[in-house]
Amino acid sequence: MKAIVQTGSEQIEVQEREQPTPGPDEVLVEVHSAGLCGSDAHAYRYDGGYEWIPIPRIMGHEYSGRVAEVGENVDQFEVGQKVIEEPIHDCGHCFQCKNGQENVCQNFSITGMHNDGAYADYTVVGERHLHEVPESVPLRDAAITEPTSIATRAVLDQSETTPGDDVLVEGPGPIGVLSAVVADSLGANVVVSGLGKDTSYRLPLLEDQGIDTVNVQDRDPETVAEERTDGGGFDVVVDATGHRSGLESGLDYVRKGGQFVMVGIPNEEAEVFMAPAVRGEVEVNTSYGSKWRNFEQALRLMEGDAIDVDAIVDTSYDADEPEEAFRAFLESETCKPVFTFGED
Ligand SMILES: [Zn+2]
Ligand SMILES: [Zn+2]
Repeated sequence: MKAIVQTGSEQIEVQEREQPTPGPDEVLVEVHSAGLCGSDAHAYRYDGGYEWIPIPRIMGHEYSGRVAEVGENVDQFEVGQKVIEEPIHDCGHCFQCKNGQENVCQNFSITGMHNDGAYADYTVVGERHLHEVPESVPLRDAAITEPTSIATRAVLDQSETTPGDDVLVEGPGPIGVLSAVVADSLGANVVVSGLGKDTSYRLPLLEDQGIDTVNVQDRDPETVAEERTDGGGFDVVVDATGHRSGLESGLDYVRKGGQFVMVGIPNEEAEVFMAPAVRGEVEVNTSYGSKWRNFEQALRLMEGDAIDVDAIVDTSYDADEPEEAFRAFLESETCKPVFTFGED
């Protein structure tokens, strides 16, 4: 089978690999589509926190496919079913797992990092990590269920966004874009902030979906906050920048009694003077990974056409020339590249 394999820092190769065989509790999935996300790009560059990944490694953790074969103990899935995987595998027995906080499991492992992933014609996975994809959701769209689940957790579980709220999402990467469309689906008034480099692809993508955007190198978000909220500030600010500035400046845009939710992981230490936030009783929250229910929320939003996933998925990159997708992603020329492996 064909597989996209990382062989070094900024080195990936398309290789011919042996098709894996499912163990007794595992399912063999014929991969249809597999997305590229921020963590894949970090791994590709060997950024800090990703250098430990053993190579050569078949990359890829966000994907959709069909069940091709099941192990002897598998009873929840059958051949032909459409599925997606929860790629962050919790251990099931640490304190957090037993305490209902499995998204922050102490012993988690990630598909495509701790073990071979889904940038391949086939992959194997334990059945307990799979979700069935509703019939009306195309596999191409379902490939981004996992990043969408990160957004449903941030917006639906970790924030208190309600219809009519003024929401600022900082950073138009995949998680920022998906958080914006999830908040928009609730009936919130969403604006997404980005930089000059985002004005060629990522901000227009949002504008096309009727979501307002601002280039912060052009306009001060403080002015935008004033105009949109009569000077009160945003009800909710979601930081999806992955940059210290998202926290440092984002807190200033929240109204008194409002909420700040960090879903991006800052690249370095931030300096924040918390006094105004304390005086305004601003609620500061974080959101990490996602849970079973967040995947189901994502799939149902897709099933109900509440979010236009189709407009976000970019299939213009070839699985035979994967470097091009990584380059374009790192240059912000695309938002969510998805490699196609199978035909539907
Ligand atoms: Zn991802
Ligand atoms: Zn655990």
